[in-house]
Amino acid sequence: AAKAAGKDCAALFDVAMRDEQGERIRLLERLRAAVDAGEFAVHYQPIVNLDNGTPTAAEALVRWIPPGQAPIGPDRFIPAAEDSGLIVALGEWVLRRACRDAAPWYQRWGTTLTVNVSPRQLIDPHFTRKVVSALRDSGLPATALTLEITEGVLVRSGGHAQQALVHLSALRAEGVRVAIDDFGTGYSSLAYLRDLPIDVLKIDRSFMPAGNGHGDGDAQQTALVRTIVDLARSLGLTTVAEGVETAYHADLLRALGCDRGQGYHFARPIPAPELAMMFAETVIVQFGPLSADQQND
Ligand code: C2E
Ligand code: MG
Ligand code: MG
Ligand code: MG
Repeated sequence: AAKAAGKDCAALFDVAMRDEQGERIRLLERLRAAVDAGEFAVHYQPIVNLDNGTPTAAEALVRWIPPGQAPIGPDRFIPAAEDSGLIVALGEWVLRRACRDAAPWYQRWGTTLTVNVSPRQLIDPHFTRKVVSALRDSGLPATALTLEITEGVLVRSGGHAQQALVHLSALRAEGVRVAIDDFGTGYSSLAYLRDLPIDVLKIDRSFMPAGNGHGDGDAQQTALVRTIVDLARSLGLTTVAEGVETAYHADLLRALGCDRGQGYHFARPIPAPELAMMFAETVIVQFGPLSADQQND
C-alpha cells in the first residue's frame, strides 16, 4: 500500500511540475506578446527630502497593463523576464521611456530620476552604450540619473561582477549615480561599501518599525536604521529609506539623519501626468506668493 501511495505521490508531483512549467511558458509567451503590443507603462513614485518634505526625485516602476485588465505588478513578471532574458529588451524600453518623461521635469523643477536595473542587463556588453544613448536622445543630463542595483550584483565572483563593474564605473565617469536597492537584505560584506562604485544606499523597507517606537521590536529596528544611516554617512553615501508609511516613520528618519524617504506616507507610484502635477504643486508651494509674515520681514 505504501508503495502504491508513493507512486501516486510521484504521479501527482509530475502533474504539478508539468502544470507549473506550462504556466511559466504561458506567462513567457504572454510577456513576449505584451512587449510587442506595447502593453507596458512606467509609473513613478516620488522620493522626498526629509528635511523639508519636498520631492527631489522619482523612481520609475514598470507596470504591465493588459487591455481591459488591472495593472500587473513587477513582482509577478520580472522574475520570468529575468530568467528568459526578456528583461534586457524590457529594461531598455523602461529606461528610454523614463528618461523621456523625466527630462522636462528636470528642466522645470530640477527633479532627478532613478531606474531599476536587473543583473541580466549589467552583463549585456552594450549596457553602457544603451544608457548613454537613452540620455542623449531624451536630453536628460547624466547627473540627473541614478541606477538602482541590488547588493548581489557586484559581489558575485567571476566575470559577471567584473562586467557589471566596468559598466558602472564607465557610467559614473559620465556623471550617472549608482544606488544599492533594498540594502540590508543581502549577504554581502561591508567592505564592498567602501570599495565599490556606489553613491546611494536605499534602506530596505523591512527595517521600518511596525509601531510607534514603543515596543521592543521597534527599538531594535530603530537601532538598525540608525546604524545603517551612520555607516552610510561615514562613507559619504546618501541614504534613502524605503517603505515610509507613517508620519512617525518620517519624523524618526529625519531625527536619525536619513537624507530622503520614499513610501505610501508621501505617495504611491502614479502615472507620469499625475507625478508632473505633484511636482508642479510642490514648486508653487515653495516659490508661490509670500506669506503675510514673510512680507512683514
Ligand atoms: P523596488 O525597486 O524596491 O521598488 C519599491 C517597491 O516598493 C515598489 O513596488 C513600490 O510600489 C513599493 N513601495 C513603495 N512604497 C511603499 C510603502 O510605503 N510600503 C510598501 N509596502 N511598499 C512600498 P513595485 O512597483 O511592485 O516593484 C517591485 C519591485 O520590482 C521593485 O522593488 C523592483 O525591484 C522591481 N522593479 C520595478 N520596476 C522595475 C524595472 O523597470 N526593472 C527592473 N529590473 N525591476 C523593476
Ligand atoms: Mg528600486
Ligand atoms: Mg527597493
Ligand atoms: Mg525594497
